[in-house]
Amino acid sequence: MRWSWKVASVAGIPIRIHVTFFLLLVWLFWAGAARGLAHAAEGVGFILAAFACVVLHEFGHALTGRRYGVVTRDITLLPIGGVARLDRIPRRPSQEVAVALAGPLVNVVIAGALFLVMRLSGDVHLRDPGFFERSFIARLFAFNVGVTAFNLIPAFPMDGGRVLRALLATRLEYVRATRVAATVGQAVALLFGFAGLFVPNPILLLIALFVFIAAGQESAFVRMRTVFEGVPVSRAMITDFRALRADDPISRAVELLLDGHQQDFPVLAGSDGEPPVGILARADLLKAIAGGRTDTRVGEVTRRICGAVRPEEMLEDVFRRMQESGCPAVPVFEPGRGLVGMVTLENVGEFAMVEAALHRAPRSDAPSGGPGGYETRGYEPGR
Ligand code: ZN
Repeated sequence: MRWSWKVASVAGIPIRIHVTFFLLLVWLFWAGAARGLAHAAEGVGFILAAFACVVLHEFGHALTGRRYGVVTRDITLLPIGGVARLDRIPRRPSQEVAVALAGPLVNVVIAGALFLVMRLSGDVHLRDPGFFERSFIARLFAFNVGVTAFNLIPAFPMDGGRVLRALLATRLEYVRATRVAATVGQAVALLFGFAGLFVPNPILLLIALFVFIAAGQESAFVRMRTVFEGVPVSRAMITDFRALRADDPISRAVELLLDGHQQDFPVLAGSDGEPPVGILARADLLKAIAGGRTDTRVGEVTRRICGAVRPEEMLEDVFRRMQESGCPAVPVFEPGRGLVGMVTLENVGEFAMVEAALHRAPRSDAPSGGPGGYETRGYEPGR
C-alpha cells in the first residue's frame, strides 16, 4: 500500500503503518490536549493499545493461513482498522473458515484475559457507564468485544462474510458465493446507513459507506481473479505494437504517439538481446514536453520500475504488480527471442471482459475455495 511505512517485522511478516494512522494519533493528541496533557496521552495510549489488539487479530488470520501454506505479504494499519494481505485464500472452505475465525478468536481471548484482570482486581461494574470512563482496561475490554461482534457480522468485508462465503461455496460456484456474500454485505451497509441517519451518528455512516464499497470491490476482485486464474501473460498480451529505443530523441516518441492508437511504449536497451529497460508512459512523455524537455532522450523519462515480464508468467501476478506499482503497461520479453509483446491495463481489462463473456457458465476447473484476495479488517465499531 502506498503512503505506508514498515515499522516492524514479526514472524517474518512486515507490519506497516499508513500515514493516515499517524494523522489520527496527532489529531487525537491535539483534540485531547484541550483537557490536559495527561488526558491527551491517555487517549493516544488507548488507541495504541486498541491497535495492538487489531494487529494481534490480523496475526490470528496470518498465522492460521500459514498453517495452510498461505503467505501473508504484510499487515497494514489504517485508521479504520488493520489489513492483512494474504497471498491467496486457502483452497478448502473449511480452511477459509478457520482463517477467517482466527482473527475474532484472538479478540475473544484478549477480552477474556482483560475480564479476568478486572475480576481479580475486584473492579468490575460493566453496567455502569462511568466505569468505562475511568477504567482503561474496561475500555479495552469493550473494544475487543466490539471488534469481535463487528467482525462476526455475516457480510463482506467482515470476517463473518468470509465464513458465509466459504459455507456457500460448498454449494455454489465460488464467484456466485462471493457475490451473494457481497450482496448481503451491501444490504447490511444500507441498514447501518439508515441507522446512522436516524440516530444520527456520523461514524456509523462512515462505516456503512466503507462496508458498502468494500463489499462491491471484493465481488469484482474475485470475478477478475477467477478470469485470470491459470492464464499466462502470452495469452493476453498485445503483439502488434511499436517500441522505442532508450537513445531515441523524445520527438520520435511524440511522432509515434500522434500517429497511432498506442499510448505507452516499451523502451529497448542498446542491443536487441537485452531485456527492455521499461515503459515510456504517455503521462511521463507529456510531462517531459510540458516541462520544456524537448531535446531529451527517451531513456531519461522511461519508467524503469515497469520492467519486462516473461510470457509464461501468470497474468494474475503481473496484473497485481502493475496495479501496485502504477504501471500502465509492461513489456514482455523472452530470452532468445527478444521483445515479444506488451501488456497494458487497458488490454487486460478487455481480455477480462471477453473471457467473462466466454465463460458465463460455471467452470468445473474452479473448485470451491478458488482464487481471491484476502483482505481482512480488524475494526473498531461505532465508538
Ligand atoms: Zn479479521
